[in-house]
Amino acid sequence: MREFNGTSFYEYLGESKLMGSRCESCGTLYVPPRPLCPSCYGETLAWEEMSGRGRLVAFTTVHIAPTAMIEAGYGRDNPYCVGIVELDEGPEISGQIVGVDATRPGDIRVGTPLRATYVKRGDGSFLGFESA
Ligand SMILES: [Zn+2]
Repeated sequence: MREFNGTSFYEYLGESKLMGSRCESCGTLYVPPRPLCPSCYGETLAWEEMSGRGRLVAFTTVHIAPTAMIEAGYGRDNPYCVGIVELDEGPEISGQIVGVDATRPGDIRVGTPLRATYVKRGDGSFLGFESA
């Protein structure tokens, strides 16, 4: 579910805000937000803005790009990097890692401090991360 309290996670990305939802019953934080808590089945969750800071815990480089990324100029000759980022607040989220050379994955380091960046592409905004 991407809709929560009538506003979507992606609309917030368009405002350069990385938002999660926190369960008011058990305190578990979800990014992207969830409308229901899978931990305690609580139905009362509140938006919470993330700092956008975290560190890289895993990554891959993508050479066989989906259509939207091909349209953005990526592909076999211009790969891009997608990573899992552990946010300072705890949750992990995936996003494009920008500002790294995806043709040289040996130079990309797990543990690198990152901050969220908001990539405009087509009609939407997408979550990315760049070196902090
Ligand atoms: Zn809960």
